[in-house]
Amino acid sequence: MLRLGSEIKKLEDNGIDMLHFDVMDGIFVNNITFGLPVLKQVRKVTDITLDVHLMIADPIKYVSSFAESGADIICFHLESSSDTLETIRAIKSCGVKAALAIKPATPAESVFEYLPYLDMVLVMTVEPGFGGQSFIPETIDKIRKVRSRISELGLDVDVEVDGGINDKTSPAVREAGANVFVSGSYLFAADNMAQAANSLKEDMTC
Ligand code: ZN
Repeated sequence: MLRLGSEIKKLEDNGIDMLHFDVMDGIFVNNITFGLPVLKQVRKVTDITLDVHLMIADPIKYVSSFAESGADIICFHLESSSDTLETIRAIKSCGVKAALAIKPATPAESVFEYLPYLDMVLVMTVEPGFGGQSFIPETIDKIRKVRSRISELGLDVDVEVDGGINDKTSPAVREAGANVFVSGSYLFAADNMAQAANSLKEDMTC
């Protein structure tokens, strides 16, 4: 964390397309990570797309602050206490892309009514709250349901996966319809980050 600037440079040098920024408030999830001041500093050192994943209890309160601090995409949880449609509208009104996340226990169908208003759906492939967890295979069916509903509606919505994504788990989620892959432990533990990133991008069409 103390080398955040040089680690971000490393991501850029190794062909990473976006930086996924996990904000945890100690209420929506037990863990606490970082927030607005850190995002502001990150924005100053990089032009990379900043994908801000809010694991916080009442995200609508902070939408404009995260947008002003440099977020390109703001993702919040359906399970949070904020009104879903109002929060999507608040994000869009800041000129930022809106994404809706669901935890592993939340059914795919719960996001269907919001699809026309969204840029991305995040299907959590582990329980949100901390890094380094194992992928939950039951989430594959959910990815498939979300992707097929998006196709039925003829929409251009990304499907993102987050948690336990590596070269072993990526083929199945890609086949199910995910096209944005969040990966932390796998990339940072790799001897060759560029090669590891490429292994996730193989056969990607989006
Ligand atoms: Zn995340």
